[in-house]
Amino acid sequence: MKKSNEKDCIFCHILANPDSVPVIYEDERVVVFPVLEPVNPGHVVVISRQHTPLITDLDERTAEHAMKIARKTAEALRKSNFKCEAINLFLADGKAGGQEVPHFHLHVYPRFKNDDFGFKYDKAKHFVKINRTQMDEVAAEIKHQLG
Ligand SMILES: [Zn+2]
Repeated sequence: MKKSNEKDCIFCHILANPDSVPVIYEDERVVVFPVLEPVNPGHVVVISRQHTPLITDLDERTAEHAMKIARKTAEALRKSNFKCEAINLFLADGKAGGQEVPHFHLHVYPRFKNDDFGFKYDKAKHFVKINRTQMDEVAAEIKHQLG
């Protein structure tokens, strides 16, 4: 992946100009604010203060903390007046995975029945059942990399 530039990063710009968004929560590691183009009303992002595109580039404590704050935000969304039958936490970790802003951000947004939002996929290509041998191979490869 091409190294991203903080100067051109919209989230770094927001961090430098916090009045440009209504900040919902902030601390020394993360900031939470509503997105400009929500999936559904109540859609927010938890962004790291550190400019880094991938979760694997983020320090472990900040990654854990972002999930903790996303959980608290999800609790608030469930109590809010927004239509919220369910919640998606979505992290696009890399451009091919749908990441549009190369700065860590965890989406938290309400979902409800018939909201017409979802992932598009080809049933012939995705969610195709694998056998136990293939599962063993997947497990072995990832276990090996975990060390
Ligand atoms: Zn940035």
